[in-house]
Amino acid sequence: MYSISQKIKWATIRIFYYINVAMMTLTGGLFIYVVAPYTSYMFFNDLAFWKYLKYYPGLIRQLYRIIAFWLFDPKYRGMYAQPLTSPPSSGPDRNKIKLSAEWQKEENDCGNCINCCIKIKCPLIDHDRNLCLSYNTVYWRYFSCGCYPVSQQQIDYYDCPKWEIEEKRLDINRVFLKLG
Ligand code: SF4
Ligand code: SF4
Repeated sequence: MYSISQKIKWATIRIFYYINVAMMTLTGGLFIYVVAPYTSYMFFNDLAFWKYLKYYPGLIRQLYRIIAFWLFDPKYRGMYAQPLTSPPSSGPDRNKIKLSAEWQKEENDCGNCINCCIKIKCPLIDHDRNLCLSYNTVYWRYFSCGCYPVSQQQIDYYDCPKWEIEEKRLDINRVFLKLG
């Protein structure tokens, strides 16, 4: 079980992030430059923001793209409901999600696949190396990337060849549905 102080810390980090997102949305993205070191730390784990200013226009575009997904894509909207007090994560919940039988690489290796990242046109993809520029940062661990995938819906949406839902869990859910 997690302590109250841990939950307060996780919720505070998320709420502060959402406040910043709201300010960015309301200022047409300009607020990202007001809080440039914060943004740099969140997305690149580095307070030296001047090294990452070239990514800021892409992050602003991505903000409005994600808002559009939320507004106009019910499939996308239905996939994300992250509790404020949930712990940050660096991988899916292995009680619920397992590697696909066809997956030949290691658990922490996506090979050359970047399906989930290109589906949302993420500006944090390093296209030369097919890597995530934000890997394991605060943003990555506290929001959707670190805990991906959380459901079959997400796996299908991103056409992910690596993960699948643990069958045992599906069977239990079916039993509950039958009982319900
Ligand atoms: S894993 Fe990295 S590149 Fe992919 S969507 Fe998340 S932040 Fe973007
Ligand atoms: S879609 Fe799956 S295999 Fe491809 S990059 Fe995303 S998590 Fe990795």
